[in-house]
Amino acid sequence: MSGEVFGGFVCTVCGERHEVLPLKYSIKAPQAVLAVPPDQIEDRVVITADQCVIDGQQFYLRGRILIPVRGLEAPFVWGVWAEISPKSFLRANEVWQLQGREQELPFMGWLNNDLFLFGDTLNLQLDIHTQPVGERPLFTISDPNHPLAIQQRDGITIDTVQDIAEMILHRGEPG
Ligand SMILES: [Zn+2]
Repeated sequence: MSGEVFGGFVCTVCGERHEVLPLKYSIKAPQAVLAVPPDQIEDRVVITADQCVIDGQQFYLRGRILIPVRGLEAPFVWGVWAEISPKSFLRANEVWQLQGREQELPFMGWLNNDLFLFGDTLNLQLDIHTQPVGERPLFTISDPNHPLAIQQRDGITIDTVQDIAEMILHRGEPG
């Protein structure tokens, strides 16, 4: 099982059946890219599937926040971006293709996406854990008392996965 829970769910917000209960949400770019006017993106933003640089001086890595789901083998995944220091960005590139790079010490980053379910998550401090070549880094929340850190540690239930889906599907709708 990966990516979704079979069979969908009956939504408590709209009362309809949604065909898919996602176990994964991916945000395609750092939040900071949204602040760049569309007609300047080409000149100012370099973005790949894994890295982003703005103005040659703001550096971002794409990674994954994993949350265990009780009763499921597959974790829940937030695919998000972290801002990192120039030094960390250089180092990440030095070891990008290096076998054994997962032995790198964790380094600091700052969440650069708005996970609105958890309040203001922009610049939330992260520990970034380098994974084997070909895998995106894992992000853990540095503050052990943050709600997202508690979920990472204790896991969530499938009901919470559904609550998340309902909030994301119906964001901005009245009620
Ligand atoms: Zn619904």
